[in-house]
Amino acid sequence: MSKIIVNNVDVKGKRVFVRVDFNVPIKNGIISDDRRIREAIPTIQHLINQGAKVILASHLGKPKGIPVPELSLAPVCVRLSELIRRSVVMAPDCIGPAVAKLVDAMKEGDVLMLENVRFHKGEEKNDPEFAKALSALADLYVDDAFGTSHRAHASTEGITRFMNPPFAAGFLIQKELKYLGDALDNPERPFVAILGGMKVKDKIRVIRNLLKKVDTLIIGGGMSYTFFRAKGYEIGASLFDKDALEIAKDILREAESQPGKILLPIDCMVADKIDSGAQTKIVPVDQIPECYQGVDIGPQTVELYIKIIKEARTIVWNGPMGVFEYDQFEKGTRRIAEAMANSKAVTVIGGGDSAAALEKFGLAGKMTHVSTGGGASLEFLEGIYLPGIAILTDA
Ligand code: ADP
Ligand code: MG
Repeated sequence: MSKIIVNNVDVKGKRVFVRVDFNVPIKNGIISDDRRIREAIPTIQHLINQGAKVILASHLGKPKGIPVPELSLAPVCVRLSELIRRSVVMAPDCIGPAVAKLVDAMKEGDVLMLENVRFHKGEEKNDPEFAKALSALADLYVDDAFGTSHRAHASTEGITRFMNPPFAAGFLIQKELKYLGDALDNPERPFVAILGGMKVKDKIRVIRNLLKKVDTLIIGGGMSYTFFRAKGYEIGASLFDKDALEIAKDILREAESQPGKILLPIDCMVADKIDSGAQTKIVPVDQIPECYQGVDIGPQTVELYIKIIKEARTIVWNGPMGVFEYDQFEKGTRRIAEAMANSKAVTVIGGGDSAAALEKFGLAGKMTHVSTGGGASLEFLEGIYLPGIAILTDA
């Protein structure tokens, strides 16, 4: 899946519409994690250096098609301007005459930040009129919004119907496709996938796709308990997704012919509530007491999983092993993350909460690649062709 990259396109003097994913966490006007902004800088800096007129578009949060002042991209514009050490003009909107006037005034190397595209209903509806209005601002389209590439919206998909190719990938999308793509299509073996977290139903499709590719699939976190139910164990008050029960049974049945291919926890930490004052115990997974719920993988499971991680040459990880947000329940996730950080394997992490866990442990920098796409990386691992990638011009 090789796409034209922005450095193969002549951009000098051109108005370049760059879809970025600046959907960063903001509280009271303060950005708590600017990683998505930093990751887009190589593309932005390249365009500036090449003398393009750089028009940046992004969404932020869920304003549902109306202007919501708290979801303005203005704080992002300020942070970006600090990071690239040059002024970035904030537009009052993303379409319309006032914005067109700002674009007309741009000189080579200037940067303009459009206002939140989701302030318009047409964005998420992929409305052709809105897409056309966006397209009118620019000569070229560049996409570096990996985190939004699983959505066919006006600024990620529709806009290209009103513009001329090439539609180039930015350097962040290039990097995401390289690491996620290589891991799936061309992994050094043994290839191990570690799946956890709580979105069992969503992730069951990921399990199905990964089972075709991996040598070992390790399961942990909240999704394990649906599998334990599938095996007939009592799981107390643990997370359980009854809609996923039959599929879990199917997966276990299919796995019977390949012993050791799917590993489930053998022990777990249970708690009487999810709270810092909780009472906890370590129990075998078939002995979860009635009023308790599973909150982490247990120490024997950790040892078993670390052995597999040590042998692996490629590891894809999605989903925490426990409720890591509480220090009491973080140990399984932390030990697995440490083992990955210390391994020689190519380590690729997808999923927003998994990335947050790595930040908590200070281990993000020790991984080969931490994806900026939560939902997008998950759909990629499912083997779904992402619309925001599909529209890019093949190299
Ligand atoms: P990601 O964002 O990495 O894809 P998910 O969104 O699927 O991961 O799940 C992350 C969440 O799962 C975390 O907030 C974590 O607290 C929760 N979680 C993990 N293990 C359990 C468990 N045993 N019970 C309940 N929630 C869990
Ligand atoms: Mg999540």
